[in-house]
Amino acid sequence: MQILNGKEASQAIRDALKLEMAQLASRGERVPHLVAILVGNNGASETYVASKVKACEEVGFKSTLIRMEEAISSFKLLDVINDLNLDPDVDGILVQLPLPNHISADEVINSIEPEKDVDGFHPNNVGRMVLGQPTFIPATPYGILLLMEHYKIETKGKHAVVVGRSNIVGRPMSILLSGSGYPGNCTVTICHSNTQNLEAICSEADILIAALGRPGFIKSHMVKKGAVVIDVGITRIEDKNRKSGYRLSGDVDFENVAPKAAFITPVPGGVGPMTIAALMKNTFKACAMKHYYDEKEN
Ligand code: NDP
Repeated sequence: MQILNGKEASQAIRDALKLEMAQLASRGERVPHLVAILVGNNGASETYVASKVKACEEVGFKSTLIRMEEAISSFKLLDVINDLNLDPDVDGILVQLPLPNHISADEVINSIEPEKDVDGFHPNNVGRMVLGQPTFIPATPYGILLLMEHYKIETKGKHAVVVGRSNIVGRPMSILLSGSGYPGNCTVTICHSNTQNLEAICSEADILIAALGRPGFIKSHMVKKGAVVIDVGITRIEDKNRKSGYRLSGDVDFENVAPKAAFITPVPGGVGPMTIAALMKNTFKACAMKHYYDEKEN
């Protein structure tokens, strides 16, 4: 069994980006600028946004964190996004999800300029992804593809089972793995809460992607010997022995599944850091695209 070390793989991506940044600086070009919007005080969201801002600093991007009160109106939030859409100094805009119930996440996502939608959630970008056209791939599935690439995981002809069909993880993951090229060319089964015989389907997977948000859900008997197991889940479990008061748990019963798997991601230190590295790559791409079109216009 080999651990798919997301910390290590993401560091390689960040190091490569740092080199690109040095080249950018030598040409006197503007550095990429990511703006993150955080609404409310959700503890997990705070942590995720802080990691994204920190990663920007590490690779040499500019970042801005806009905090908004939980009670902010939808109108005000859309107004701020509109200003960012028009700001030539901003390359990437991300709105940390989940949003408070009174705000429609769809409306907010749809309001982001597709060229600045570095999360890849805008319908234009999702459409391009489905068609296999160049676009921003949502950060978590993109991070998983990068992790597979880093470890040269064989995907062609494999049966991939994705558990979870959310718009940000499961669904795009299933589309990407079924696409042609590498990593891809898989035969994909996507599962959800209405799937029957889930255990049997999982146990037939060469590549099993767990993205359901249920700690320890994937047990050893659900995993084929020699499978590649990617654990996307991150759930905070109360733990009074920790200073933070919680520990993180993935969707896979790691201890019992790991001995059966050929490759497996840990939680934390697997998909999480890759998601952030993928976001950095998308932000760099947004900036590079802007330079390209600006030069074409002038
Ligand atoms: P959602 O809650 O949006 O989606 C969960 C999906 O899992 C749904 O499609 C749901 O089915 C399915 N599901 C739930 N229970 C079962 C079950 N018993 N059997 C089969 N399917 C089930 O979650 P997300 O996709 O946003 O996130 C999933 C997990 O990944 C979470 O733990 C989240 O914290 C983590 N995450 C981690 C990231 C990272 O960077 N590592 C990034 C994003 C998320 P149905 O559609 O029928 O309800």
